[in-house]
Amino acid sequence: MEILNKNIDGKFYAKKVLKKIYPLSQDFLYKFNRRPSLAVIIVGDNPASKIYVKNKIRVAEENNIQSIEITLPAQTSEEELLKRIDSLNKEVEVDGILVQLPLPKHISEQKVINMISPEKDVDGFHPINFGKLYMGIPNFIPCTPLGCLYMIKNEVRDLNGKSAVIIGRSNIVGKPMASLLLSSNCTVTITHSKTENLKEHCKKADILIAALGSPEIIDDTYVNENTIIIDIGINRVEKPKEKVKSKLVGDVNYEKVYHLANKITPVPGGVGPMTIACLMHNTIKAAYQNQKHNFIDLLEEHT
Ligand code: NDP
Repeated sequence: MEILNKNIDGKFYAKKVLKKIYPLSQDFLYKFNRRPSLAVIIVGDNPASKIYVKNKIRVAEENNIQSIEITLPAQTSEEELLKRIDSLNKEVEVDGILVQLPLPKHISEQKVINMISPEKDVDGFHPINFGKLYMGIPNFIPCTPLGCLYMIKNEVRDLNGKSAVIIGRSNIVGKPMASLLLSSNCTVTITHSKTENLKEHCKKADILIAALGSPEIIDDTYVNENTIIIDIGINRVEKPKEKVKSKLVGDVNYEKVYHLANKITPVPGGVGPMTIACLMHNTIKAAYQNQKHNFIDLLEEHT
């Protein structure tokens, strides 16, 4: 009997995107005599943030994108950080700027996001980019939702009229995800911590996006046999009963839903790799636009 593999392979899709990035960064170097560049700022020493930044820088370098890592101590003042961003905004040869979140409590994340020039905002969090996305005229689309949509469109050829349910309404994940699915003609339900009858909403979903930040909370009582599950959550949990001390899990209980769901993104190896690939995509896009050069969005056919 054939064993059906229900996994949506994020590493495969990330490779597919990155395969298009490398020749473009070579072309950029040839045309403009420099590499596309990405400045990454990290404040403090949150261990998860350090790993994310390390991975982003590694993938940038592998793809011929110059990375500028700026590590600031946790006690850095908000004013100092805003000044650093302002000077990066003015650096002609810096194409993309990313500030790794979360920031220490004394710094306003919104002020920091607002400070990044919308033309260099490769995370797509600036209000101008957020507004453009909601108006259906996107420029920089947040990397995680963009990567999810790319995978969904590759897996579900026709999204017209599909029911998409999103658990989570954050500005960086839930809301942009909703906007992208709405633009793709899905019928979208956004749920959150105050939603009543969450399970009933989720059970009706053709596409279920879990972005709530609670480890393995979504089990087989939330899904039906047609549901395509995109698990955005990344949670490190202790696993005393298993051989490992701790491991990464999603917001979905993979073991419990796998037998029932139609398809699912595993954690790790699902949404994570696509997020980084989309960051590279946005950086290349920012670099070409910075040079006032036409850039055909690589993901357009699938976004
Ligand atoms: P936030 O904490 O900003 O938002 C969580 C959202 O989930 C909120 O809207 C909250 O509702 C809602 N929520 C929380 N608990 C419940 C519940 N029990 N039932 C229904 N809704 C609930 O998180 P983010 O959006 O930043 O991130 C979500 C997850 O995605 C995290 O695990 C994060 O680590 C992961 N992530 C992964 C990325 C990747 O590359 N794979 C990138 C970014 C994030 P309310 O608004 O009412 O509080």
